[in-house]
Amino acid sequence: MTRVLAVLLLLACAQPLCAQAVPAANLTRWWEEELMQPTDLHRFIFDATAECLGVEVTDADYDAISWWVADFIQMPDYTRLGGLWTKNPRRIILDRWRTWTHPEYISHELIHDITNGSVEHGDPLFDKCTITVLAP
Ligand SMILES: [Zn+2]
Repeated sequence: MTRVLAVLLLLACAQPLCAQAVPAANLTRWWEEELMQPTDLHRFIFDATAECLGVEVTDADYDAISWWVADFIQMPDYTRLGGLWTKNPRRIILDRWRTWTHPEYISHELIHDITNGSVEHGDPLFDKCTITVLAP
């Protein structure tokens, strides 16, 4: 029965109407997102990153960020991402399994956030202010 339904759905999606329901291929996508409460680690990295960037920050700046995890974050070319920052709404999405507590990814997304997206990848500030985890 399941196979019959799958075939029927495939046939149904061959219609032009279904083509519009397929997500645009140029979007970064993620799955199973969940709003999270940031930990003391996230706050510590926020303060350290802001200090490195030379930006004055307040509790309100920190509280304005909404923190999310997702099971999988994928770019349009199918590259898997460890994290993502979005300006509007202002949020940081980290990989639930790999990067939620990873200082390098957290600080990277915070550089985007604290500079309001004005610092591009490749800018020396990313090298300077991304917190690198030393091997044990
Ligand atoms: Zn980035």
